[in-house]
Amino acid sequence: MPSSTVIPARIARLEELAYNLWWSWYEPARQMFRALDYSQWRLSGHNPVKQLSSISKERFADVAADPAFLTMYDTAIAAFDADIKKPHTWFTTNCSSLGAGPVAYFSMEYAIHNSLPIYAGGLGILAGDICKEASDLGIPMVAVGFMFPQGYFHQQLCNTPNQCQLEIYRTLDFNEAPITRLLAPNGGKAITRVKLRNVILGIGVWLVKAGRTNVYLLDTTIEENPEPYRQLSSRLYVADREIRIQQEIILGIGGVRVLRALGVNPIVWHGNEGHTSFMMLERTREEVLKGKNFPEAADIVRAGTVFTGHTPVMAGHDIFTESMVDSYFNGYWQSLGIDRQTFMGLGLYGNNPQDFNMTALALKMAGQSSAVSELHGKVARKMWNPLWPEKPEDKVPIEYVTNGVHVPTWIAAELNYTFTKYLGTDWLARQDDPDLWKRIDEIPEEEIWTCHQRLKLKLLGAVLNRMRGRWLDGNVNGNQMMSMGALFDPQALTIAFARRFTEYKRPDLLFRDAERLKRILTDPLHPVQLVFAGKSHPADFASKYLLQKVYDLANDPKFQGRIMFIEDYDMHAAHYLVHGADIWLNMPRRLQEASGTSGMKAAINGVINLSVRDGWWNEGYNGSNGWAIGDGPDNFRADEEDARDTASLYDLLEKVIVPLYYQREANGVPRDWVRMMKRSISSVLPAFSARRMVKEYASRMYVAAARK
Ligand SMILES: *Cc1c(COP(=O)(O)O)cnc(C)c1O
Repeated sequence: MPSSTVIPARIARLEELAYNLWWSWYEPARQMFRALDYSQWRLSGHNPVKQLSSISKERFADVAADPAFLTMYDTAIAAFDADIKKPHTWFTTNCSSLGAGPVAYFSMEYAIHNSLPIYAGGLGILAGDICKEASDLGIPMVAVGFMFPQGYFHQQLCNTPNQCQLEIYRTLDFNEAPITRLLAPNGGKAITRVKLRNVILGIGVWLVKAGRTNVYLLDTTIEENPEPYRQLSSRLYVADREIRIQQEIILGIGGVRVLRALGVNPIVWHGNEGHTSFMMLERTREEVLKGKNFPEAADIVRAGTVFTGHTPVMAGHDIFTESMVDSYFNGYWQSLGIDRQTFMGLGLYGNNPQDFNMTALALKMAGQSSAVSELHGKVARKMWNPLWPEKPEDKVPIEYVTNGVHVPTWIAAELNYTFTKYLGTDWLARQDDPDLWKRIDEIPEEEIWTCHQRLKLKLLGAVLNRMRGRWLDGNVNGNQMMSMGALFDPQALTIAFARRFTEYKRPDLLFRDAERLKRILTDPLHPVQLVFAGKSHPADFASKYLLQKVYDLANDPKFQGRIMFIEDYDMHAAHYLVHGADIWLNMPRRLQEASGTSGMKAAINGVINLSVRDGWWNEGYNGSNGWAIGDGPDNFRADEEDARDTASLYDLLEKVIVPLYYQREANGVPRDWVRMMKRSISSVLPAFSARRMVKEYASRMYVAAARK
């Protein structure tokens, strides 16, 4: 933490801003930190907390006397105060019936900013975007998660046979992260305690501010805890089931106790994915303690609980063995006033009495449950029908709220500038109004194209920077340099495939006919390049095999350097990719992608989607704002589906996409392509914004829960 005595009084609130990640989605504040000290801004990885601790006294004195900087500072502070403290918000106008209490949001991971690497992928991005949007709309929200000092692993790719992914864990320096430790009234680090079998563990808490939303991150690495429990919260999504259940007990049971200890009394509780379900049990225990019997207590909890599930494939659900649950909850079910069998029944799904299914528990304990896209809603109702055997499938009580992305976080600064110029300074305030986007035709195609080319060059710069770093570290050969993007061509049609490596996303689909692909990529006049990025879960060997396959091809000179693999996909890399690619490719096996959000981030930046109609794209695709791969009936055999989609993908590329991209006017502008970019922006931005999504959660689900 920077010592505030060094920061001159005139700009003393820099520290407050640095500790509220609000700055990260308010462009003028970002510019202000950049101007404060550009080299420290870059060296800190865009992390003002670290930046402030490295700036010299002289530099502080200079900027504190620089009128241009002071104007930026005053503007950012004024906007911050206005936004954080404004009494009239969308929420006060539209949801006053929610009352005073906040919504408590529980999630295993949060992606709020890259300086806080406590996320693995889409689930965390969604949670972060919800916290930010709740703040923007004035919805009182607190969030509960984990402070993982080592987070998720960093990925490096190497040429070791059969093991191209190196998993590197770095420990976060808490002093450089935008977090503040909360202390108990007695000054101790343990805010509350939770019992794991016969061990009582203290739980420490770190506060992260995302605008108005307080995010409380739980931490077991405090001195009073014995080893190995101190390491319990080190890493996200470890394969070890014992650690997973312990983490989920801390999150669910500990999370409720932490909020109580901090004097926070939520009126609605929203669980994000099955990892959070023990939260519902702990609140039931509280009601039983107040004198209710179990059914009454469960009814009270249900009324105030919202649950969102994200997993359309059964194997992806969080399941613990009955004996494991037994060993942690014997003693706990007594405090709920129920016996073992009733307790185990809460996690029962179908004919699997040995399994305790965390999603089944959530669906039974939440009064309102939702899926994350229309199609996923259908899949979920079918999958969970056995929990409501008396109901027909379409009456299974699982609704859907299609995901969205936080526009101020994901829009490129250059486009923000262009939209401000043509649509008005208040365009972000009106972002989900489709009428606003009818005016996108007022923006000249030339201007959008210039903007896009600039973003593509930024992507190139980021690719080269990463590569340069690896070159300096040594141990990379020429082919690896090529696969890292040494031959990136900013003039070539650029297709990005950036996502978790996992079988159902079929990253290898493009390579089914390697010769045909090679012809497409290496066309001398109309070349195409592929940029891959994504991590394999350390314990998912099928996925690692796919990654190896793609990496080997990227290293194969026969593709002439037109296939690249960007290491260590994270929020930062995602920003460059969703801003600077031309095409966003997604090829999930149908009905297996719950929603997906990266395609939305791309679309709002004019990066055109080329995707299987699954998840959100089944709703987002309108026939003229991108392309649908392999449309046709479902229930194909997997190999037939693969063959159909591959053929469709190659056909689209050869006959439609490549010709459209290279059809240029004398000034170099591909006008029809840019028109499609515009349709992508105007159709996707208002409808798949986090604004639309959070308004839906609030007005449909939170208000109903609060009323009960
Ligand atoms: C948006 C995002 C995701 C989620 O992308 P999907 O569309 O669900 O594949 C994952 N990781 C990062 C870093 C992201 O920014």
